[in-house]
Amino acid sequence: MELFSRIKAPKMLKLKSSTLKEINPGKEMLYNLSTGYGNVCQPVVKVGDMVEVSQVIGESSQGKSEKIYSTVSGKVLKIIDSPNNHGSRVPTIIIENDGEYKKQERQATQQVDYEIYIEALRKYSLTDTQGIKLYEKYKVDNPKDITSIIINASSWDINSLVLQYFINEKSVEIMEAVNIIKSIFVNASIFFVFNKKDGFDYDKLKSSQNVNIKLINKKYNHKMEKQLINEAIGNTSENKVLVDEIQSLLGIYSAVKLNEPVINEVITITDPEMNSLNYKVRVGTKISDIYEALKIKEEQIDKIARNGLISGQALIGASVPVTQGTESIAFIKYKKPESERACIRCGECVNVCPLNLYPIKLINYINKEDTQEFKKYRGDQCVECGLCSYVCPSRINLSSKIALGKSNILK
Ligand code: SF4
Ligand code: SF4
Repeated sequence: MELFSRIKAPKMLKLKSSTLKEINPGKEMLYNLSTGYGNVCQPVVKVGDMVEVSQVIGESSQGKSEKIYSTVSGKVLKIIDSPNNHGSRVPTIIIENDGEYKKQERQATQQVDYEIYIEALRKYSLTDTQGIKLYEKYKVDNPKDITSIIINASSWDINSLVLQYFINEKSVEIMEAVNIIKSIFVNASIFFVFNKKDGFDYDKLKSSQNVNIKLINKKYNHKMEKQLINEAIGNTSENKVLVDEIQSLLGIYSAVKLNEPVINEVITITDPEMNSLNYKVRVGTKISDIYEALKIKEEQIDKIARNGLISGQALIGASVPVTQGTESIAFIKYKKPESERACIRCGECVNVCPLNLYPIKLINYINKEDTQEFKKYRGDQCVECGLCSYVCPSRINLSSKIALGKSNILK
């Protein structure tokens, strides 16, 4: 990914404290009327209307009851077309924040069954960090058929510190969400899967009888669920296993238990010097309000990455708002590109590959056009995650070379 190849990679980060600073919401808040990938909602307010925190301002027109909520109180200033996280222009409501945060009160949910659960995930438009809708993820023919639910507790986003924060500080909310899930998927064992190297302190989670802890060697992203399931709990029928992440559990707690939309996100913000810290940011805050609050100048930023330097998205501008599901934002200043050097046989690329491939060997086979050996060493299975390139001290862009070679050699 271009984002990666031209920047100096940050060190793998470790959170030293549970510090959480806050970005004050801006004077104008933006709400894209789109929910993850797919549905675009229609405004249900008009210019000049006064709104409150948690008030519905947009609704899906396809009878699916996905909704968009205001996170501030104030006046609807404009309804325009503006870019969302994926770069599409969608209807967007701009609200003048009156700074009072008057809130629509809601009754907490008393009894939860499967229908109420799915409806809450849908009505609060919950997505995971990849933009996948949670109500689609948890929609099954019969919840009793699900035998395992895996919570992937190691982030693929290497400049994110939020998991460490959540595990340290939000274990009560996480356990509430686990108990809700367990009350619905009654036959499912719930596994929290940690990467051994992350060294997270998961003692608070261990105390619940509803939680099983698994330590694994690799990290897997959402495209590698099969491999994750295999390493975590062994071969099992995929359609009986659901996979989710810790970030989703906090959304589930808010939507299902409190009957409230997600108002704030905890986000790791990385500045152009690659210093990272966790911040509480109100959904709807403009990216430009964040960098101004942190006293970062526009000319210091070449690119803005959302949810990871390797597999995240490059935002198309600073007028994009923070949305639910945002885990990290990095303001990137390109360093002078480092030139590629010879392989020093350190083995880092082999250690990091989630599929146990041998990246540098694959490149040798590509160079020799040796299709047979390339296939024998499973080069065709490379998922182009970019991790091998990321860790390589010789700055060899292994992932791109394998991706290019794969398409040439396997023609
Ligand atoms: S890009 Fe391919 S070879 Fe490199 S780490 Fe990812 S899966 Fe392994
Ligand atoms: S990480 Fe880079 S230098 Fe190390 S073995 Fe792999 S290709 Fe060679």
